[in-house]
Amino acid sequence: MAPSAIEPTTTHLAAADISKTISNTANSISKLPSNNPLPELDASLLTITPPTKLKPMPQPGTPEAARCPTDHMISASWSSTSGWSAPSLHAYQNLSLPPTTSCLHYATQCFEGLKLYRGHDGTLRLFRPNLNCARMLLSATRVALPAFPPAELEKLILKLAALDGERWLPRSEPGQYLYIRPTLIGMDADIGIKPPNSALLYVLMTTLPNLADRVASRAQPGLRLLASEDDACRAWPGGFGYAKVGANYGPSLVAQREAASRGYDQILWLFGQEGKVTEAGASNFFVVWKGVDGGLEMVTAPLEGRIILDGVTRRSVLELARERLPEVGVVEREFTMEEISKAEREERLVEAFAVGTAYFVSPVAAIGYKGVDMRVPTSEGKTGKYAGQLKAWLEDIKYGKDEHAWGVVVPEN
Ligand SMILES: *Cc1c(COP(=O)(O)O)cnc(C)c1O
Repeated sequence: MAPSAIEPTTTHLAAADISKTISNTANSISKLPSNNPLPELDASLLTITPPTKLKPMPQPGTPEAARCPTDHMISASWSSTSGWSAPSLHAYQNLSLPPTTSCLHYATQCFEGLKLYRGHDGTLRLFRPNLNCARMLLSATRVALPAFPPAELEKLILKLAALDGERWLPRSEPGQYLYIRPTLIGMDADIGIKPPNSALLYVLMTTLPNLADRVASRAQPGLRLLASEDDACRAWPGGFGYAKVGANYGPSLVAQREAASRGYDQILWLFGQEGKVTEAGASNFFVVWKGVDGGLEMVTAPLEGRIILDGVTRRSVLELARERLPEVGVVEREFTMEEISKAEREERLVEAFAVGTAYFVSPVAAIGYKGVDMRVPTSEGKTGKYAGQLKAWLEDIKYGKDEHAWGVVVPEN
């Protein structure tokens, strides 16, 4: 269990009190008396060691270009006796780890995923990075990794983004993005099973294929989801489904491979005997239907049970829909696959979509359930009216067409 002093008191990442709950984080987890304060993670101490030579840029269209890390990364180490080291920005490089290292055996590991966008106005932006940093803290403390002030992580991400954004997202090519992967790993080198006394935080950036475009450009656009069966479950109450920890992903890959071999893109994870709908792969899931009273409803699974991830895209879709789609009732509640199936039979199903950093807002075309493919309509055109509208709004914020507080400008030299 994470120490109570740093256990976030809320599942709501945007809550203002998240930063208060983690004051003196390095100390709260250390073994030393609190009159000997340990250094916090502090972005102002960043040291910069430029590599002697930059990487050759990968040839566009080659496999190397699809998943190519950029020139630099940021690292900071932590120990329970000396707190956080000064972070350093240096060449992207391999790690050297003893084979006994904690993260390799006991999943003492968590990560984040967000994108850096080159806007149509030439500006670099991140999308609500404060939420990713708050979630990283939540995930870290769930697996006994050290806490840190999330605002310091955000500052480090901005530094890396500014430096490598210049070369890897040229101003002459607006509309492109890079993927940012902050990672925290337990570094204890003895084989014992215990909360780590040392850890390494690092942040890297990489190119990543555009999964949303890939899905949209198919002859039959839209995701094909396979509902999970009784023998597979992604997360459970009291578990860690709400945290972005590696332990959630490895064990889901057998089902993922099975789905792929049967022509599906992702698993739609159901939970419990009633078949409650939770999420789709590493994306949150939304359905739009007409209620039995005829009113339009947009529904997604709630955060309360702590079995789904509090997606930044999910949160943003909910907020925009509530603000800008007055004709739609936006609801976070438990719902089942049977309800979707019934709505489809009664021709009340309007559309469904998956949302997340990787798939962005992608319409769902079909759901494999109990051996049958249920076709999901798209209310208008190929994308679905609501998925299309929400995607366009979010895209405008990310690429700077809509000057919105969620688009955080990265200051460049
Ligand atoms: C990362 C992730 C999401 C999407 O979160 P975003 O912040 O929108 O990218 C949803 N579900 C799971 C399980 C995830 O790992």
